[in-house]
Amino acid sequence: MKPIQSLKSDLHLHFDGSLVIPAAFELVQSFTQDYEAFSKSMQVKKDCHSLYDYLACFDTPLALLQTKENLYQMALALIQELDKQGLCYAEIRFAPQMHLKKGLTQHEVVEAMCRARKDAMNQTHIHVNYILCMMILGEEKITHDQNEETLHVAHAFKDQGVVAVDLAGAEGMAPMQDFKELFEKAHAMGLRYTIHAGECFGPENIKTAIAFGAERIGHGATAIQDESVIQLLKEKQIPLEVCVTSNVNCEVVSNYEQHPVRRYLDEKIPVLICTDNMTISNTNLDHEYEMLMKYCHVTEEEIGMCQKNSIRYSFADEKIKEKLLNEPLES
Ligand SMILES: [Zn+2]
Repeated sequence: MKPIQSLKSDLHLHFDGSLVIPAAFELVQSFTQDYEAFSKSMQVKKDCHSLYDYLACFDTPLALLQTKENLYQMALALIQELDKQGLCYAEIRFAPQMHLKKGLTQHEVVEAMCRARKDAMNQTHIHVNYILCMMILGEEKITHDQNEETLHVAHAFKDQGVVAVDLAGAEGMAPMQDFKELFEKAHAMGLRYTIHAGECFGPENIKTAIAFGAERIGHGATAIQDESVIQLLKEKQIPLEVCVTSNVNCEVVSNYEQHPVRRYLDEKIPVLICTDNMTISNTNLDHEYEMLMKYCHVTEEEIGMCQKNSIRYSFADEKIKEKLLNEPLES
């Protein structure tokens, strides 16, 4: 297999699920010397059978990411790692409200992350932007205020690399429709958005997300269950952020061969190949490309097309996109 290295970019990558293990281990040296046990605590277990089990793997990274210093160090390490892997562009996403346990405000969280982005980009070749996630943590009437604050913070950091917002967390725990008002607000504030939909819940969530004005869909794995959703994605050319390994981990599909990505490509729906959580799913973009070619009948040419789509459908500004498409990194 000829590796395709010139135009690698990842548009669906969760910060807390993608911590660089050696760098994270440095933060816990005073509590533990057991590297093996520490790394295992951040990776998916064999008995993971659902998105809900998978979300438990975020406990360790989230416990670490509660101070400005740790947020800064871990963001710096992740961006350096992505650069080392040869990515030219990444959109890293995180939910500011998940980092407030030691008294930080959402604003302070994003400020530390933006500082790391700026410093990391000065030392590397990669261009990075951020997507801020609103969360489904229970009933939306409980989480509404935190989610609304995330919109305001996203708006405040628009000039420092925050390019969009998202809705993440336990899909299905609250009806998608309950988030309508937040996305109306996001739209009115001029924010762009992608939405996790059709990952562990039915295709109706994808329809709702598109009706809210989502420019991209996170996962969309269940679109295959409803022909009208396939046609909608095709007609509107809404890209799907496809994360096959993560979908196998969460048993959204029973194995790689069962993943609907081949059908999506055949229907000419734009597919963006993403990792979701590099550390928790123990993967990276090269591994995702390899799995797609090995098990899902995706050709090397199609991987190249998906890579171009990732730049085209990114939330980067047009000048950056043009530069990345015309001057890919040396392979
Ligand atoms: Zn995700």
